Amino acid sequence: MVILTDMDDTMEDLLTPWMAALAERWGVSKPREEVDRWDIPSLLPELTPEQIYAPLESEELWASVRPLPGAAEALEQLAGEGHQIYVVTASSFQTAQFKAKHVLIPYFPFIPIDHVIVASKKQMVRGDVLIDDGPHNLLGGTYQGILFDAPHNRAFPAKAHGLVRAKDWAEVYDAVQDAAVFRNRRCCIW
Ligand SMILES: [Mg+2]
Repeated sequence: MVILTDMDDTMEDLLTPWMAALAERWGVSKPREEVDRWDIPSLLPELTPEQIYAPLESEELWASVRPLPGAAEALEQLAGEGHQIYVVTASSFQTAQFKAKHVLIPYFPFIPIDHVIVASKKQMVRGDVLIDDGPHNLLGGTYQGILFDAPHNRAFPAKAHGLVRAKDWAEVYDAVQDAAVFRNRRCCIW
């Protein structure tokens, strides 16, 4: 199968160092568990959106980003089973470079760099599954959506939209296996 996966807060924990950078610079931030919505400026009204998003353009921040538990192991196992892994990330050009240099290459060396697709409209990309913490990326695509659980998407009714919610990478792995079984069945009936 072609497995598409998001990076930020799916493969790696961006939120923790991002909030730490805001705490260090401005003395305001939120613990990861309290970031319960996409609209982060509404959670931190003391700061302007520019102040909030500025750390994402800093190479120093990206150097402190680490993978989420089990992400590298699960993706490496899936690659070893013959699946093709493609990263689909909605990033600025600048951020994409830092993300590749400090996260993808050191922690996910089995994913070739030319398997990184920078796109904000992920529905334009074809694949069998997409693993992503953003429900808006999973709706309307040709892929089976696997919603990577996070406080900000917990209120989203994943099942009602045909998505599978995975609370960690072990559950992502299982959801991918189920999608593979479903795809094989579909292939043989057709
Ligand atoms: Mg994400």
